[in-house]
Amino acid sequence: MSIALARRYRPRKFADLLVQDHVAAALRGAVAKNRVGHGYLLTGPRGVGKTTAARILAMALNCERRDPEHPTGEPCGECGACMRVWNGQANLDVVEIDAASNRGVDDARDLRERAMYAASEPGHHKVYIVDEAHMLTREAWNALLKILEEPPPGVVFVFATTEPQKIANTAAPVMSRLQRFDFRRIGPAAIQSRLRDVLNQESVEADDDALLIIGRHADGGMRDALSVLDQCLSFGEGRLTADRVRDVLGLVDDDSYAAILTLVADRRPADVFAVLDRLVDSGADLAEFAGGLGEILRALLMHQLGVEAEALPTTTREVIAASAPKLASEDVVRMLKLLGEAEQGLRRSANPRLVLETLLLRWAMMDRALDLKALLSGTAPGGAGPSAPSNTSPRPTIPPATEKAPPVKAPAPPTPEEPPPPSHPDEPAATASRGGEHAPVMPVPRTTAGLHAVWPEILETATRQSRLLGQALEHATPEWVDDGVVSLRFGADEAVFREGVERQVGVVVTILSARLGTEVRVSTASNEPTAGGKRSNRMTVKDLHADRLRELRRKDPVLDAAADALDLELVEEE
Ligand SMILES: [Zn+2]
Repeated sequence: MSIALARRYRPRKFADLLVQDHVAAALRGAVAKNRVGHGYLLTGPRGVGKTTAARILAMALNCERRDPEHPTGEPCGECGACMRVWNGQANLDVVEIDAASNRGVDDARDLRERAMYAASEPGHHKVYIVDEAHMLTREAWNALLKILEEPPPGVVFVFATTEPQKIANTAAPVMSRLQRFDFRRIGPAAIQSRLRDVLNQESVEADDDALLIIGRHADGGMRDALSVLDQCLSFGEGRLTADRVRDVLGLVDDDSYAAILTLVADRRPADVFAVLDRLVDSGADLAEFAGGLGEILRALLMHQLGVEAEALPTTTREVIAASAPKLASEDVVRMLKLLGEAEQGLRRSANPRLVLETLLLRWAMMDRALDLKALLSGTAPGGAGPSAPSNTSPRPTIPPATEKAPPVKAPAPPTPEEPPPPSHPDEPAATASRGGEHAPVMPVPRTTAGLHAVWPEILETATRQSRLLGQALEHATPEWVDDGVVSLRFGADEAVFREGVERQVGVVVTILSARLGTEVRVSTASNEPTAGGKRSNRMTVKDLHADRLRELRRKDPVLDAAADALDLELVEEE
């Protein structure tokens, strides 16, 4: 068997460029229409096909079997000219330059002089392929700029780089003369399927999981994936298994990840030491292991939020399915956050084991998110209302909410960078994606405080029904006036929102009754206009919540720390 799979299966046509269809179509079209530019910049991560695309372009321009009557833009991939380019052989018309080793001004001058010569034959193109182009010096770029300003006919420059920003910094004027194509990472599933094709042609059998692990490890690069596949095939005989791939790559098996997630879910910090002993004894790379933990947590969180992660090995799926009901999504978010902090230390520390051990201990000693949520809303999970906070909790209790100071909102709305927290448990749409965790619907005390506690949920539900209604309700300060009557008070100058609510009062009644578990009636009111337009009249329930949480956090350092760890934010949106 050939060792160099990456070479043997390197694409010979635009159509074979994996995932980079947008680039392939543009370049093929340019060749077919005889509209190839003088300068191209191909950017993207390593191993995604930039140099290969450059070579295919060179092949297509000089292919001996080009049919001028019916141009397809594709090279034949088989003629002498195509083979010379594809093999990287000495070639009059196609020159490959590795900028990492040819970066002096002399080379640039040489390049400039050589570029003055036209292609070897009429109708041919002279193609310069410059790899690692960000390594070129400023002087080299200046020389190239002169060529690109007045390009000789038939000369094409193709620059490939993983770091376009560096070129923008040193050679912005050149950059503006190049047509730029951004190559995409190749996803694990696409890599898996390409590896399967290759193995079929090589008549080698392999487990799906084995190929998926290679695909995930290659981190978007096909060349790396094929070279790992090479190693795996030379390392053993017969069917390629997931275990063999893990051996070759030095990966920890999923059982170790499962063990860690279980001990975290069960809050068994003492077991951390034994797990780490086993890891270290097996010679695992701890930084690599932490990276794997991050991937599993991310996939776990996605699973809990109802999104399936792409291309996971079966064993990983099993770990995730088993852990999902045991860990709250909020906890997984906190674990990811702590992991992110630890990863820096893992790379720098002289004692990575200590860093990892501390991380796992922090995970295993976390307070449960659900307890804290109950604490914050003033209602313990057993159904105790705000007037009877749980005394059995070892954590400090928070004073029950009163009418003057409404309790706080639970997790803040998701920011674009962060995965959203799970929805409230009483929303039917959300329960299906909860991954098995079922928090009971907490009873709502029929007080203004109870009303305020669930008000953010009410707003969310209303907004889902009508954005305008949600917006209007946001301006209301709700109050429990009397048995069964909820008053919605608006600012003196907020008549438009009051009217908005009144127009849809039936919807409001339905939402409130459903959430409060009792039939309610709704009345609306406006504040009296005041001369100075005092702030208190304009204060919405959100302002009250923010004040309330601020005060709670000030009084209680434990809650303060916990709120930070949980990413709870003051409800402070405008
Ligand atoms: Zn050809």
